[in-house]
Amino acid sequence: MAFSVPFAEQESHVETWEEQEDEYLARAVYEHMQLNDKVQKETWCPICKQGKLQENRQLIYCSGCELQLSKDNEVNLDILRVRLADAHTEHLDLGCRLKPKFCSETSFGLTALYIVCQGCNTFEVVI
Ligand SMILES: [Zn+2]
Ligand SMILES: [Zn+2]
Repeated sequence: MAFSVPFAEQESHVETWEEQEDEYLARAVYEHMQLNDKVQKETWCPICKQGKLQENRQLIYCSGCELQLSKDNEVNLDILRVRLADAHTEHLDLGCRLKPKFCSETSFGLTALYIVCQGCNTFEVVI
């Protein structure tokens, strides 16, 4: 059956199909993003990657490890999420293909979160 369709027609048929497919994909991606936006409030711990980050009035903490960051006006879970994304982006911009690690260190009673990568000597404070 398909063999009897003239070539030109066959081609236009393919184009239509691709357009529809594109639209479908675009919508799927969009809906996925919407969904993520809603469900999203979950941030995986960058250190143990098993627990989820949670916050109470004083602290951002991990449900799976010892990570605890004290909160103040400039630090909350939303900001931390943005900083983590930024840190990842900045690291990617360096052109390094290795996966950076995160670690926390406490000095003078303040805990800071660092992004560390041995591949490109990154060692930056995330928050
Ligand atoms: Zn953790
Ligand atoms: Zn790196």
